Amino acid sequence: MSKSIFQKIIDREIPAKIAYEDDLVLAFHDINPQAPVHVLIIPKKPITRIAEARPEDHTVLGHLLLKAGLVAAQLGLKESGFRLVFNNGRDAGEAVPHLHCHLLGGRAMTWPPG
Ligand code: 5GP
Repeated sequence: MSKSIFQKIIDREIPAKIAYEDDLVLAFHDINPQAPVHVLIIPKKPITRIAEARPEDHTVLGHLLLKAGLVAAQLGLKESGFRLVFNNGRDAGEAVPHLHCHLLGGRAMTWPPG
């Protein structure tokens, strides 16, 4: 199986603007931002998408959410607010088959999403 673009970012084969990293997750700025702040938080483990996550992934997924909150705070979004989005599958517009959490902020969001 060929490496996904996000695996190449984890492996430092292609560059990204890193916002946070530890042994379980990597956060980096989206190349095509949809808000003034648009960061992707990904597990280093190559989980394809939420629907493919397994019970043993609960630690890394919980960790990912906690770190999404931390990155949001570090980027100054704690008071103003932010949105976390996981696109899962075709109807959601998932383009990269490596689980990722979109962290969006810095502007008012609309609801429902498009
Ligand atoms: P999806 O549509 O799968 O939920 O989101 C994939 C996201 O990855 C998109 O927002 C897209 O802009 C971002 N993306 C795709 N390729 C790259 C890349 O090479 N570098 C970075 N930083 N983001 C990327």
